[in-house]
Amino acid sequence: MERVECVVVGAGVVGLAVARRLALAGREVVVLEAAEAIGTGTSSRNSEVIHAGIYYPSGSLKARLCVAGRDALYGFCAERGIAHRRLGKLIVATDGSQVAKLEAIRRQAAANGVEDLRLLDAAAVRALEPELHAVAALLSPSTGIIDSHGLMLALQGDAEDRGAMIAFHSPLTGGRVTDDGIELAVGGAEPTRIACTVLVNAAGLGAWDVARGLEGFPAAAVPPRRLAKGNYYAPERGRAPFRHLVYPVPEDGGLGVHLTLDLAGQARFGPDVEWLDGTAHDHTVDPGRAGRFYDSIRRYWPGLPDGCLVPAYCGIRPKLSGPGEPAADFLIQGPADHGIGGLVNLFGIESPGLTACLAIADAVAARLDGLDRSGGSPI
Ligand SMILES: Cc1cc2nc3c(=O)[nH]c(=O)nc-3n(C[C@H](O)[C@H](O)[C@H](O)COP(=O)(O)OP(=O)(O)OC[C@H]3O[C@@H](n4cnc5c(N)ncnc54)[C@H](O)[C@@H]3O)c2cc1C
Repeated sequence: MERVECVVVGAGVVGLAVARRLALAGREVVVLEAAEAIGTGTSSRNSEVIHAGIYYPSGSLKARLCVAGRDALYGFCAERGIAHRRLGKLIVATDGSQVAKLEAIRRQAAANGVEDLRLLDAAAVRALEPELHAVAALLSPSTGIIDSHGLMLALQGDAEDRGAMIAFHSPLTGGRVTDDGIELAVGGAEPTRIACTVLVNAAGLGAWDVARGLEGFPAAAVPPRRLAKGNYYAPERGRAPFRHLVYPVPEDGGLGVHLTLDLAGQARFGPDVEWLDGTAHDHTVDPGRAGRFYDSIRRYWPGLPDGCLVPAYCGIRPKLSGPGEPAADFLIQGPADHGIGGLVNLFGIESPGLTACLAIADAVAARLDGLDRSGGSPI
């Protein structure tokens, strides 16, 4: 049986960042990817926003890895010429009752180390975005957008330069924990067997199946999986009269129907939250759901034309909490958590996973090095 030092399952943005991190540390790395190319999962079905780290509970992995990952990502983009723009985001209060919420958001952001939010009055908002209705807003200058595919190509390039190999059409179908590592089965009817010392499960929506398929992995350590689709709708011809990302004040545990822009200036609204049952991985967008967007958007963009929204695309969030439950944190499960040497599982890597990918990779490396057993260290 062939033996490799490290196997990473999944060539999304997180798996690629982990593969790069391990390869840069001089480890031998093979990435197993079920699909035919990198980044065909959630990593190409998101808003491509570099989040500042504003809303997450202080001290959570989401807060810490977002802030650390954001800074690392801007640095990586600059160094590697990855297309991105620090265009800023406005969080808008559309009536007086929401202004106090802006203050609360600013306090939460500061507690997370995001100190650059600026409170703007209505005139200042109008000067920035004449078509936006707001009685006040917070400007987040360190929020940006990125070419996520360019990022993944750069991560892949670095990993391969250091000798990592990506095997496409190579689904991990099972495995077994042994005395000297983990044996893996790759592929369908007649699987190829590989032994490894380190296994990083970065399979996104598939992370739960990968963990359950490992003989010897404690079933109780696999958390429940919840899936929430996020649908996007675009104005016809893709244009909206804004230069910043626009978010309403968050409500009911969600970020609200917001406007994001891509690097070509195309606008889209969303993602909404559509809870899915069971194992559905359906990526169709129901045109009928667009109807719910109009009222929400018109609170901040009264000029949204009737009937202009068309289905764009959707992504599915791999979540650890369900409807009505408090939002769960990322779960980066290392040997100290489940007792199996060399194994790290990544569960619930929803937003801000793209922003945080480089910091998540550092956190994975730290767990493998045994530096972060308690979950309470800096990463
Ligand atoms: C609607 C939406 C909007 C978002 N917006 C943002 C945003 O603006 N900013 C931000 O920071 N984050 C955002 N996110 C989060 C971000 O997109 C994810 O955190 C990130 O893409 C997760 O990357 P990943 O590599 O973990 O997963 P994925 O990209 O899903 O990659 C997992 C890979 O594993 C492969 N795989 C699965 N099972 C197996 C197997 N058994 N064997 C081999 N390969 C397997 C899959 O084919 C896939 O390629 C958003 C997410 C969603 C859903």
